[in-house]
Amino acid sequence: MPELASEKTCTGCMGCMNACPKDAIAPVVQADGHKGIHVDPARCVECGLCERTCPVVSTSPPYGTNNLESRFMAGWADDSSIRRRGATSGIAGAIAAHIMSEGGYAAGAVMEGLECRYIVTSDPADLPRLQGSKYTASFPGMVMRHIRRLLIDGNTVFFCGLPCHVAALLNYIPTRLHPQLYTADIICGGVSSPLLLARYADAHPGMKGVASFRNKDNGWHPKGYKYNLKYIDAAGKMHDTSADGRNLVTDGFACELTDRLSCYDCQFAFTHRRSDLTIGDLWGDTHFPGQHHDGVSAIIAHSPRGESLLKVSGISTAEIPPEDILSHNARLFCGKSIKRMLPERRMLGKLIHWLGYRNLLHIYASDLRSAPFYWIPFTIYRVLSFRIAEKIKQIRSRYIIRKCLNSINDSK
Ligand SMILES: Cc1cc2nc3c(=O)[nH]c(=O)nc-3n(C[C@H](O)[C@H](O)[C@H](O)COP(=O)(O)OP(=O)(O)OC[C@H]3O[C@@H](n4cnc5c(N)ncnc54)[C@H](O)[C@@H]3O)c2cc1C
Ligand code: SF4
Ligand code: SF4
Ligand code: SF4
Repeated sequence: MPELASEKTCTGCMGCMNACPKDAIAPVVQADGHKGIHVDPARCVECGLCERTCPVVSTSPPYGTNNLESRFMAGWADDSSIRRRGATSGIAGAIAAHIMSEGGYAAGAVMEGLECRYIVTSDPADLPRLQGSKYTASFPGMVMRHIRRLLIDGNTVFFCGLPCHVAALLNYIPTRLHPQLYTADIICGGVSSPLLLARYADAHPGMKGVASFRNKDNGWHPKGYKYNLKYIDAAGKMHDTSADGRNLVTDGFACELTDRLSCYDCQFAFTHRRSDLTIGDLWGDTHFPGQHHDGVSAIIAHSPRGESLLKVSGISTAEIPPEDILSHNARLFCGKSIKRMLPERRMLGKLIHWLGYRNLLHIYASDLRSAPFYWIPFTIYRVLSFRIAEKIKQIRSRYIIRKCLNSINDSK
């Protein structure tokens, strides 16, 4: 039997499932709502292909390193509608639009009802669905097999997704096909349990699907901004929940207490990566105030082909000092968090099924202002535990930034 990632380290990338020639691997839903895998011993012929694809156990080169080899940029899409629809500034959207305009395919995560899954498309009408951040775990399904078939047939494919999913894709696609494949990963703070959405939908009868998790109705802001969950009901009516107080979906995501176990010790957070590009928000920016309203992206180009892709996709860029990105976005280079150890995370698999919506909201979305008085001890514990987690994160981040900057000085 193959030795694949453990429940603690498995990223749910489904690379192993795509690679298995005997279809011996199937997804299973765990108690915490995240998807794991099951290997059917009756079908497995022990060929080892799944182990070679798995980004956690494979012996392929590591996904990245923390050095300053890559180019650090600020940027935004020139096309105003692509930029407006983008989670940040439409970088992924602009590249997908360019690749499709040249007859190629774009792959990325879309919402289908309450599920977030990857699709591959050559239809520009799918662009709005591909754009925007979906703050829930995305399911790759068999998208990697689909991409491999397209590449074998001579097509170009652009894949934008989570770093662990890009790592699996690059292991899975034979090296001879890599020149036709462009990849961008996002700066990833972790993915929350799909059960948050399921429990939210239970509490909001008639909810059919999510329209957006965040948007720029009130502009983008370098200090961060409020998420804005919008959903559609069975009659097709849009509900904007921004005036409803905290919700289990976006505030639950922000609390990081329902993330995949692998996200608390992410093995894919590096300043220099195997992907062509890494994209995220340029938090803390002070250089481009005139651009803030429409969004400014942090872009890290890891390869010359990544840089060329930006140029031909209608994206404006300006090189910036690496510290401008590193000092405000620790998840680019540090995937560790002590929140995995907190009792709320350990008990997620039980509490998410046992408790009612209001209690889940108190615990997993930190909605403690509306909690009854007997929640005061829990509130004190929550404030203290989150402060300690934040402090440890800051100390770790400062240490890694110092090491990165020293590596540059040493190489001079
Ligand atoms: C779960 C999650 C955590 C994030 N954490 C951070 C963070 O800590 N710091 C930071 O700076 N940025 C973070 N981001 C990235 C940021 O929110 C934007 O997605 C990114 O800047 C791209 O914006 P854009 O306007 O260029 O892309 P758009 O044109 O809006 O396209 C968005 C792209 O992101 C992909 N995508 C969206 N949601 C998912 C998902 N759930 N799974 C896989 N792919 C997805 C789509 O495939 C699409 O190609 C996170 C995004 C997600 C989804
Ligand atoms: S070892 Fe081969 S047959 Fe067995 S699960 Fe892995 S890929 Fe499938
Ligand atoms: S390939 Fe992905 S889904 Fe399969 S065991 Fe490894 S990490 Fe988990
Ligand atoms: S935090 Fe790491 S393991 Fe978790 S989804 Fe993001 S890239 Fe994958």
